[in-house]
Amino acid sequence: MDLLKTLVDKGLRREQPTREEALAVLATSDDDLLDVVAAAGRVRRQWFGRRVKLNYLVNLKSGLCPEDCSYCSQRLGSKADILKYTWLKPGQASEAAAAGLAGGAKRVCLVASGRGPTDRDVDRVSETIRAIKDQNEGVEVCACLGLLSDGQAERLREAGADAYNHNLNTSEATYGDITSTHTYADRVDTVQKAHAAGLSACSGLIAGMGETDEDLVDVVFSLRALDPDSVPVNFLIPFEGTPLATEWNLTPQRCLRILAMVRFVCPDVEVRIAGGREVHLRALQPLALHLANSIFLGDYLTSEGQAGKADLEMIADAGFEVEGADQVTLPEHRAAGGCGSHEAAGCGSHEGAASCASEEAGGCGSHEGGVCGSAPAAAQAAGDARTDLVAVRRRGAGTDLAPNA
Ligand code: SF4
Repeated sequence: MDLLKTLVDKGLRREQPTREEALAVLATSDDDLLDVVAAAGRVRRQWFGRRVKLNYLVNLKSGLCPEDCSYCSQRLGSKADILKYTWLKPGQASEAAAAGLAGGAKRVCLVASGRGPTDRDVDRVSETIRAIKDQNEGVEVCACLGLLSDGQAERLREAGADAYNHNLNTSEATYGDITSTHTYADRVDTVQKAHAAGLSACSGLIAGMGETDEDLVDVVFSLRALDPDSVPVNFLIPFEGTPLATEWNLTPQRCLRILAMVRFVCPDVEVRIAGGREVHLRALQPLALHLANSIFLGDYLTSEGQAGKADLEMIADAGFEVEGADQVTLPEHRAAGGCGSHEAAGCGSHEGAASCASEEAGGCGSHEGGVCGSAPAAAQAAGDARTDLVAVRRRGAGTDLAPNA
């Protein structure tokens, strides 16, 4: 297919595809699916080989959020029966992190529900970062605390944070349909603050909220312009008790097309399969490793993932290898100078990095969740409602039970 040859050539050169090419990936047929995976897999291997980076989530503070993100089980008014607890102490968080690191993770993602941290919250997270770094040499720490105020990114950087996550989640045009308590511009601002402070920016999306193909391409192009080092791709987990509980729009095949599109648009960026991997990719998870070079090990913030041991076996069986602490995740041109450094031109060789000023990133982190008021694209096949695959997290951080790692 000429389209795939063009996209591979561009990906190997770090050249941005056109919007039409990105849309065409999402519109490919099931007959062409393995060709799409193979093509995007060539780009993935060029920049990341067969390495899979493992990340481990520690939910520092769960539920009780005053914001109303429709996709989120922790939102204001959520009826989801999730764990609710306030800030873990540094020792508790460090203990949770250690379990993930022992399981093979090299990055710990410290996430807290809420609109954004107070300065006191930044103090307590800084203490937690120091505790984790003291006890685990070489560990990468990413913070995900919501919208940042001036100076907070710098303070987290000084405390040892390597990265900051704040997702754009969906297109600017539909952002108001999923959240009313903050704006897309707020989110963009926080990603830019993280970048400016020298933190490695992590910003991604949630697919399956009723968005169109155009919305998906919009948000991924906006992410490319923001130049994050890592792009988590969440697939909405329609939690009972949230406004998006009935939004089962994804199929495993569509998830693969979305991941392939993200890989072609952000060829040299750490593309991470985040929440919803098990629920929506199901038996096709191993194929997704040909597209993404990063996953979360074990459980998510408020839902359970498959056993950490199953993640490791899947990686080995699919012919991939877990990235070691001594291996650099990003390609040399992006990694030079450390975890948070970038080439001046940003994500690949793209034009127009400065144009991201009108865009934003979405919410606190690697959430499971998602919705919007717009109707699904006509061409988008609805997936089966697999509520049987959604399990609320009852172990690990905030409980007396051992974590899944
Ligand atoms: S995504 Fe973050 S800010 Fe939005 S409701 Fe959930 S915890 Fe709150």
